[in-house]
Amino acid sequence: MDIMLTPEDRKFKEYVRLFAHEKVTPIAEKYGETDDIPKELVKAMADARIFKLLLPKDMGGEGVRSLLICLAREQLAGVYCPADVTLAMQGLGSYPIFLAGNEDQKRKYLTKISNGEILTTYALTEPEAGSDVSSMSTEARETSDGFILNGMKKFISNGYAADIAIVFAKTPLKNNPKTVSAFILEKGMKGFTVHQRMKMIAPHDIVEFKFEDCFVPKKNMLGKIGEGLKIALDTLDMFRMSVGAAAVGIGQTALDIAICYAKQRIQFGRPISKFQAIQFKLAEMATELDASRALVYRAAIIKDNNAENVSRVAAMAKFYATEAAFRIVDQSLQIHGGVGVLVGSTIERLYREIRSLRIYEGSSEIQRLVIAKSLLCS
Ligand SMILES: Cc1cc2nc3c(=O)[nH]c(=O)nc-3n(C[C@H](O)[C@H](O)[C@H](O)COP(=O)(O)OP(=O)(O)OC[C@H]3O[C@@H](n4cnc5c(N)ncnc54)[C@H](O)[C@@H]3O)c2cc1C
Repeated sequence: MDIMLTPEDRKFKEYVRLFAHEKVTPIAEKYGETDDIPKELVKAMADARIFKLLLPKDMGGEGVRSLLICLAREQLAGVYCPADVTLAMQGLGSYPIFLAGNEDQKRKYLTKISNGEILTTYALTEPEAGSDVSSMSTEARETSDGFILNGMKKFISNGYAADIAIVFAKTPLKNNPKTVSAFILEKGMKGFTVHQRMKMIAPHDIVEFKFEDCFVPKKNMLGKIGEGLKIALDTLDMFRMSVGAAAVGIGQTALDIAICYAKQRIQFGRPISKFQAIQFKLAEMATELDASRALVYRAAIIKDNNAENVSRVAAMAKFYATEAAFRIVDQSLQIHGGVGVLVGSTIERLYREIRSLRIYEGSSEIQRLVIAKSLLCS
């Protein structure tokens, strides 16, 4: 699928592939599966300028291109989940500032995020507002010099390690009680706490935030009152295909280890790779992986060229690639036989890690709705 990439983009992909194998693999071996974000990992990613992908060119960055973010996530996800999630969250927590921040906010936060000096996150989901984000109940009441926030956010990735968070809250207007606005919250603000850390089937820094009469100064509002939902959804549109890219990275690792295992596992006097049943599985896995990669690259290229109908192609990429990666990982586990379900094997870890990609940033059902709506409304 590299045929879809320019020579510079291919060079960048190879650069991240080498970085992931040479610098991230030893960190993955040292820390293993963890609910924490190792500082050593953040430093290595910052030193390799990975977070500069999230910074505009006029601030010394790479210009916030969807394709580069996808290529980086593909390479990182196949090697170490916290590396991929950290790039994703630095993106989800900085893009709203890139989109809607004023000059002071950009200067204060974006450079620090791109240097890995601070970690950020994106807090939209609530206990009673998942797929239906507009039903959120966290509320920001306006005062003379700021806002008082009350409410909860749930499933916030990198929320324990994060120094700041982009938080979306209702700011009801007389004519529209569902109006949403966006805020930059800093850890340490009175009334803003990590309520509890959550345990996932695959370890992940993920928490609930609580806001109890938390005062947020006016200067920490992003954009204008009522622009919050647009900022939230435009950010998800930018990063949706990159979840597909992470799925491609995980799927590629699952296929690579399946080929390797099939060639060396002897049964009935020959490697299992000689059996057509195994060959067919590998052929299907490789085909689905290529189709996923093509959909992801297409969506990212369209997004970078500001073409129309990004929502549809981004939803197709996220939906197909995450569902396909789940099938690929499952087939790889099947090829590994009993070894595949042994706790501690690579494929057992991937089997747990791939699952949540079909749920977050819009579940597969919601992606289908987006695709169908674009078909029926055009
Ligand atoms: C690992 C992980 C990390 C996450 N990180 C973050 C984060 O950093 N920040 C953040 O804000 N959120 C985050 N989330 C939350 C995530 O975005 C939500 O879990 C997701 O949007 C689904 O919401 P829900 O879990 O409440 O499910 P629900 O919305 O309750 O959905 C339950 C089921 O019903 C289906 N469903 C819902 N509505 C419809 C419909 N209209 N038609 C058909 N089916 C429907 C869903 O597809 C799903 O299968 C994370 C979640 C996970 C699992």
